[in-house]
Amino acid sequence: MNILVINCGSSSLKFQLIDSETEKCIAKGICERIGIEGSQITYTPAGGEKEQTVTPMPDHTEAIRLVLEALTNEKTGVVKSLDEIGAVGHRIVHGGEKFAASTIITDEVMKAIEECNDLAPLHNPANLIGINACKKLMPATPMVAVFDTAFHQTMPEEAYMYGLPYEYYEKYKIRRYGFHGTSHSYVSRKAAEVLDKKYEDLKIIVCHLGNGASVSAVKNGKCVDTSMGLTPLEGLIMGTRSGDIDPAIMEFIAHKEGKDIDEIMTVLNKKSGVYGLSNNLSSDFRDLEDGYNRGDEHCIRTMNTYCYRVAKYIGSYVAAMNGVDVICFTAGIGENAPLVRSLVCEHLGFLGVSIDEDANHKRGEEIAISTPDSKTTVMVIPTNEELAIARETVSLVK
Ligand code: AMP
Repeated sequence: MNILVINCGSSSLKFQLIDSETEKCIAKGICERIGIEGSQITYTPAGGEKEQTVTPMPDHTEAIRLVLEALTNEKTGVVKSLDEIGAVGHRIVHGGEKFAASTIITDEVMKAIEECNDLAPLHNPANLIGINACKKLMPATPMVAVFDTAFHQTMPEEAYMYGLPYEYYEKYKIRRYGFHGTSHSYVSRKAAEVLDKKYEDLKIIVCHLGNGASVSAVKNGKCVDTSMGLTPLEGLIMGTRSGDIDPAIMEFIAHKEGKDIDEIMTVLNKKSGVYGLSNNLSSDFRDLEDGYNRGDEHCIRTMNTYCYRVAKYIGSYVAAMNGVDVICFTAGIGENAPLVRSLVCEHLGFLGVSIDEDANHKRGEEIAISTPDSKTTVMVIPTNEELAIARETVSLVK
């Protein structure tokens, strides 16, 4: 069965068509600047040329129509008709406490997703627009919602509660939810599979280090803690997000710089992280790695602070699980930056971690980068959120 995976943002829409039998991507692409002048669709059929077309996309329905047209195009399409698309899997950012698993999309489910809009005001409304656009163009095709938060719903109360007045939890559901759940679930399962061990027997820490970044603790196949919270701002230092800070800093900056709360939030989300810490040099680790190797003081400070924070989370999750068997690195930085992995692991001597630097410099493979005598196994597992969404979708529509 072919599954169309849709990841819909407020002005962009990423898509992949995946053959669920071979688990291969047949075609993929992105629509950008939806509703903005200069919108374009990029479409790449597997093994074919990338096509970029600048064309008006006033709304998401038009974007999805163009995606379906590209997939069924006589010359460059990959399917003959829409009948060959068996189901659509939608990535949904926030499922609140309502969704602990993926689900077939019905009117009630859409209403429940809408009720979580408050918790992800930038993302959930865009996700719903994507669902509505698909419903319009493919009314008979079953659709599944796969939530970024669902995998973390197994966290115990002690891990998800904040030290805030309890009434805020009761009234507004303010608690820690966690994100990147599809990736944490996929990578931790894959690690067990590659090691040929039972998922339910392992204590795994997954470091999803991309532009957004989070760590999770997966004990006996269940997430018991993760570093992102009510929103994706908590936890690690990220590309442009601050991660954990003393909340009183917000008031301090507000007074000193004359900023209101929205301006402070923009600083914390868009101007902080490794971008801000490197004195606005870059949010991209390729630049930071170059600078580190050149001896640039801003890059050295940023890299060391970033890696220390990752190591500190790993340490706390060893405590949370009373041990660890496997530490996995994944996502853009986790998969591609050997320097980051090395620097993080330098802090992990207490776990008996020893890294094989030759293995650490290999690319694109599911691989153990620790030496055979390392007390804890360290691995690089490329994530594949689209495949994980396709798998969930098939399992529900079959
Ligand atoms: P993601 O959000 O998972 O797509 O990750 C994107 C981030 O991965 C980029 O912002 C880069 O910082 C990082 N990245 C991608 N490729 C490399 C690379 N070859 N070396 C170091 N960092 C990389």
